Amino acid sequence: MKLSDFDIDFNKFKNEKDSFKFQLKDTFFELKDNSLFDQGEVEVIVQCEKFENTLVLDYSLNGHINSLCERCLNDIKIKVNSVRQDVLKLTLNDDLLKEENYLSINHPIFSVYDPIYEQICLDMPTRIICKNSITQYECKINHPNAHKNNAVDERWSELKKLIEK
Ligand SMILES: [Zn+2]
Repeated sequence: MKLSDFDIDFNKFKNEKDSFKFQLKDTFFELKDNSLFDQGEVEVIVQCEKFENTLVLDYSLNGHINSLCERCLNDIKIKVNSVRQDVLKLTLNDDLLKEENYLSINHPIFSVYDPIYEQICLDMPTRIICKNSITQYECKINHPNAHKNNAVDERWSELKKLIEK
């Protein structure tokens, strides 16, 4: 998977409508510097419609990302399930082209990578924790101190013996 896979070339539009399907895997996240996530599987369908000077892109995302619970560090899967619409205008005006959502009539190529990445981030719950994962389990906090406590107890009992002497 490479960044250019996400370029949609509206010059190639034969029909007014077309749709594109992307199967996102871990490599999707590797393409992003400092990505918030690095694992997941998401199916994305982008339906595009070209009008005279307007392009409408309808996204639907379905899948999950893998992450670690912020509280108990267990591996969890967070569901991704959302829709999004981007409307782009075609123009020849250089000033407008500096703005978002404008594409050059002469070079109508649009990368859906960032909108997809952004949408996945928007779909994430405020807290990445077990309760908000697909399983919705409560956090299972392991108590690694359980064994240590025994050791401490033993040491205390040794001390006690010394004191008793
Ligand atoms: Zn947890």
